[in-house]
Amino acid sequence: MSTQIKILPEAIANQIAAGEVVERPSSVVKELVENSIDAGASEIIIEIENGGKRMVRVTDNGCGMNHDDAFLCLERHATSKIASESDLFALQSMGFRGEALPAIASVSRFRLQTRFSEEETGWQIYAEGGVVRQAEAVGSPPGTVVEVRNLFFNTPARRKFLRRDETEFGHIADVVSRLAMARPDIHFKLIHGGRTHLEALRHQRLEERVAALLSRTMAAEMKVFEAESGGGEIVTGLLGMPSLSRSNGNHIYTYVNGRFVRDRVVQHAVLEAYRTLLEKRRYPVVVLFLDLPPEQVDVNVHPTKHEVRFREQGRVHDFLLHAIRDALRSHLTAEPRHFFSLDKPSEPRQPEITDPSQPEVAVKAGVQEAFSAYQQSPRVKWSPSEKGEAIGFPSRPLPEDAQPVSDEWRLIGQYLGSYLLCQVGEDLLVVDQHAAHERIGFERLKAQFASAGIERQELLLPVVIDLDHRESAAINEHLDTLNRLGFYIELFGGRSIAVKSVPQLLADANIERLVRTVATELSVSGRASALDEAFDEVLTLMACHGMIRANQVLSRLEMEALLKSLAEIDFGSHCPHGRPVVWKLGKKDVERMFHRR
Ligand code: ADP
Ligand code: MG
Repeated sequence: MSTQIKILPEAIANQIAAGEVVERPSSVVKELVENSIDAGASEIIIEIENGGKRMVRVTDNGCGMNHDDAFLCLERHATSKIASESDLFALQSMGFRGEALPAIASVSRFRLQTRFSEEETGWQIYAEGGVVRQAEAVGSPPGTVVEVRNLFFNTPARRKFLRRDETEFGHIADVVSRLAMARPDIHFKLIHGGRTHLEALRHQRLEERVAALLSRTMAAEMKVFEAESGGGEIVTGLLGMPSLSRSNGNHIYTYVNGRFVRDRVVQHAVLEAYRTLLEKRRYPVVVLFLDLPPEQVDVNVHPTKHEVRFREQGRVHDFLLHAIRDALRSHLTAEPRHFFSLDKPSEPRQPEITDPSQPEVAVKAGVQEAFSAYQQSPRVKWSPSEKGEAIGFPSRPLPEDAQPVSDEWRLIGQYLGSYLLCQVGEDLLVVDQHAAHERIGFERLKAQFASAGIERQELLLPVVIDLDHRESAAINEHLDTLNRLGFYIELFGGRSIAVKSVPQLLADANIERLVRTVATELSVSGRASALDEAFDEVLTLMACHGMIRANQVLSRLEMEALLKSLAEIDFGSHCPHGRPVVWKLGKKDVERMFHRR
């Protein structure tokens, strides 16, 4: 009896592999440039024609290959980068599968020219559809040139999926930027149709690389950060200030052990750290390198290696979240704190432009309460029916001897009854009084909420929810935590759950939607930020209530009290909705406005 099963011919196996590794011209660029990086190149030139459909050529000054390696590299599973299984878990290189070159060669007209640095002659191999047509010794500089022409010429079905030149080139530019971001020590040059599109010279510091790849203006608004977990994880990078936010996540560059990844755990931690700082559907600019012991992460999950698997994803997530949040917090508070530094003794201030109709003692009754709350902790009740007036500010007159904010800044006055103008050093600050007040109230409520614990509200009728298997597993796994947060959830058989009580603060929320979102998040990240978000929303609502509105004339003392409180909270420069609280105009900005420079 003859067998039905056949071993695939080599050429077909390579084409199938190409289906995984080579999706479009940018994948060719990625593989070739990674090889150049692995070869120790300090200069990599990428030349593109017609979005890479007609040609991709990568030239490097790396170690090159000798005669035998030049032929071997086109064989399937030929790699110089790993020799044993243990190497697979301690990868130092970008490549290791030994798949890319044969896969690319199988779907293109392929030319390799290479010279091993310690040899006199170079070698050139020409292949079509993976079949070597020509090979010869050639004179060439040390290093390697790989030229890939007419991608998918022999697989028309796949060629049809390629897009316009500009679209394909866009992907290529993304790929090169991601690779170049991680290696400031390598000179990259990307040329399309003879025009240099991007050039990044060798740099010492990440900031310079970011300036070369993104822009100088962006780099100027990013802050260096670094943190260690104590458990082997180290994170470094640059965090964009909230003012840099974008409408998509394309400027979030995340790397794990030197590789660019699009990992859900990492991505989630980043977005979560910025959540209260950005308006909805705005994304930060971030360049982040997470390094951890190789045994803590599996990069061998996906052929293009964009995804990784962490051994302890919850721990990695939390470490990143806190590291980023702490760094942002210190940068954002550093500035207002600097502006409003409080602790120095004050000097008598000059008479300033102020509204003469507002004597300092004339405190408007409505605002008075709010301000006095700054002197004394408000008592808050958490019953939903009281949400309206929940902030219960105790009424107490504003002390007449309120301390001036500092000698470093001068309150100039109020603009449009809505903004406070101050001079701080040589800067002009504009503070949105309503946003500032909201932010202050929000932070206070949040702190109280955290310390006072959470009250439960029994539901008259349990809410029964059907979940998918991942979600129900996640809920099951986190039952204790949810319980501590004020939920009481019972698992039915199968994938249904019954919600019997919820945190009182959230009793008015759409319970089903909330629990579903929490379940989805838990299954993705092991963390439930939907819950934080729901709490934050309620707190924001409460904080808004009774706060100073725009169009409210304030006395000097009131303004000072507001600024002083603002300086005391974290995240002073944004309100809980993510709107900015403070705007700064530097001396230079003002001079530029008047063409004085
Ligand atoms: P991998 O990178 O997974 O090892 P590839 O198919 O990409 O597999 O490359 C096969 C081998 O060819 C590499 O292991 C390396 O030894 C060699 N090679 C490929 N490109 C270069 C290059 N630009 N310079 C030097 N050697 C290279
Ligand atoms: Mg490779």
